Amino acid sequence: MSALLELMDVARHYRISGGVLGLTQGTVRAVDGVSLTLNAGESLGLVGESGCGKSTLARLILGLEPLDAGTIRFQGRDITEWPETELRRQMQMVFQDPYSSLNPRMSVRAIVAEPLTIHKIGTRAERKAKTLALLGTVGLDAEMAGRYPHQLSGGQRQRVAVARALALGPALVVCDEPVSALDVSIQAQVLLLLQDLRTRLGLTYLFISHDLAVVGQICERIAVMYLGKVVELASAEALIREPKHPYAKALLSAVPVPDPGHQRVREQLRGEPPSPLDPPPGCPYHPRCPYVMDICCREFPPAFETGQDTGEARLAHCWLHAPAKGD
Ligand code: SF4
Repeated sequence: MSALLELMDVARHYRISGGVLGLTQGTVRAVDGVSLTLNAGESLGLVGESGCGKSTLARLILGLEPLDAGTIRFQGRDITEWPETELRRQMQMVFQDPYSSLNPRMSVRAIVAEPLTIHKIGTRAERKAKTLALLGTVGLDAEMAGRYPHQLSGGQRQRVAVARALALGPALVVCDEPVSALDVSIQAQVLLLLQDLRTRLGLTYLFISHDLAVVGQICERIAVMYLGKVVELASAEALIREPKHPYAKALLSAVPVPDPGHQRVREQLRGEPPSPLDPPPGCPYHPRCPYVMDICCREFPPAFETGQDTGEARLAHCWLHAPAKGD
C-alpha cells in the first residue's frame, strides 16, 4: 500500500492571552508532535476523549489551520504547496451534526450539487444527473432531492452530508464523529454505508471518534490520542483484543462486551483529563493512571516496542513497556 497522507511531528499550539494588557498567559498544545501515515484505501481511526486534539488534527490535515511545527504530505506533496481548490477537491469532511452542517434554506438537490457548482464542474443538466446518482449511491430515493433538511430524519441528513462530501470524488474523507449524534440503530446503518462506500469507491478514511466501539467497527488501524499526543497505534484487531497503553485499556473498558461469558477486566477512567493549558510533567496520563511509577511523573515516555502487529513493531508511549535493564 502506498502512503496517501504522511504526518511528521505535527504540532499546533494556541497562545492564550488575557488580562487588561492582553499578555500571553499560557500555551495550549492542542496537537503536539504527532506522526502518522495513512495508506491509500485504508481506514484509520483517531480515538480519544473530547479535547484530546483529534478534531484540531483533522483541521490541520484539511489545511484549515496552519501548522506550528512539522510537515503534512498528501500524495507525496507538502499540503502547503497544494493549490487550495485542488486540496478541497481531494479532501472532504463529514461532520458530527448533519443538521447544523447542512444549510436549512437549501434543498437536498442544491446541497449535494453545491461543490460541483462552486468548482464549475459540468453543465446544469450534468450536475443534476450527478446529484441524483450521488443520492442513489448513499441509498436515498431521487424524490428526496426536492426536500429540505428539516424534512429528513437524522440518518437521511447524514446520508445527504456524505453525498455532498463525495460529489468531487475525493481521495480522502475525514469523518469527524459522523454517527455520534444519531440513534444507535441509525448509527449502525450509517457505519455500514460508510464501509460499503469505501469498498465500492476505493475511499480512504480518517475516522475520528470518542467511541472505540464505533472506530473498531470501521477501521483497520487505530491511533489513540491523549492531550495532543498519539500514545498508542495498532491494528484495530490487536488494540481491541489487547490494548497496551493504560489509557487505551480504560477507553476499551467503556465498550460493552456482547458475549456475557467473556467479560474483560474493567479499568475505569479516573477523574477528568488535565487542563491542556497546564499539562502535567512526564507522562500526561500519570495523574489518572493506576500503574503510575516515579519516572512517569518526570519524563515523557518515548515509543516502546510492545510486540508484533501484522508483521510490524507495535508501539506505545508508556514506561511499563520500557525494556528491562540489560535487555
Ligand atoms: Fe501510566 Fe506511567 Fe504508562 Fe503513563 S507512562 S501510562 S503513567 S504507566
